[in-house]
Amino acid sequence: MAMNTPIIDFHFHVTTADEYTDWFLNWLRGNAGEEALDHLRQVLSSPQAMLEYLDEQGIDYAVALAETNPLITGTSPNDRVAEFCRASERLIPFANINPFMIADLVSELRRCVSDLGIRGLKLYPTYQHFYVNDARLYPLYAEAQRLGVPIMVHTGSSVFRGARLKYGDPLHLDDVVTDFPELMIIMAHSGRGFWYDAAFFLAQLHPQIYMEITGLPPHKLPTYFPNLERNADKIIFGSDWPAVTDIKHNIATIRRLPLKEESKAKILGGNAARLLGLAV
Ligand SMILES: [Zn+2]
Repeated sequence: MAMNTPIIDFHFHVTTADEYTDWFLNWLRGNAGEEALDHLRQVLSSPQAMLEYLDEQGIDYAVALAETNPLITGTSPNDRVAEFCRASERLIPFANINPFMIADLVSELRRCVSDLGIRGLKLYPTYQHFYVNDARLYPLYAEAQRLGVPIMVHTGSSVFRGARLKYGDPLHLDDVVTDFPELMIIMAHSGRGFWYDAAFFLAQLHPQIYMEITGLPPHKLPTYFPNLERNADKIIFGSDWPAVTDIKHNIATIRRLPLKEESKAKILGGNAARLLGLAV
């Protein structure tokens, strides 16, 4: 299996420098210097440039995220992200639907899937200030379940100004998966910070809930999740580019973890391929 398993980055922001808020650009500059902005502009200058970067990092597929977070990070519209990804099947577009900005969530999801070719949804409760088990989201979940569209949800902490951490508690997903047992749910950041145990438990308990390890230092994974191997079928790799740019290094660190080779292949792409329905 390991030989043919693709490497999939499940968490790649394709928000351009023009689309980010000034606050976010300053944060990125403060964190990684002016060259981080040059890098951002270069990689997103065209789909081809992004594919070259993925090649350089040893990544076969990337999930490209739209966002509608005008108060925090910025807005990369669903239509623009879908258009960008049209260049290659290696770029997999995920839409965002902000429940405070879109009146008819179900129609927007249908449009994203049928007109734009969107393959999943990413929800940002900590940046958009809602609980994931809020009733207003339920029609969206029902439709996503019917269409077989996976939903990735930001869980855990965030250092961005204006984020409200209480909305990142993965426990609220227990309601969602109980009410929509066929809906595929991916916990981005696996409850980072306060809720690692809760995230691990939920992924172990519910067949349709996955843990995504974006933003966690890979060498710390066995510390955060002492029984990591037990959830090997449920763990998904992602980078959080542009916050992390040396993705290759994180992949290499995962390859050195004291886990079965087969488990590492699943984490680095096997699980994501199954979830996305990629024919590999
Ligand atoms: Zn992210």
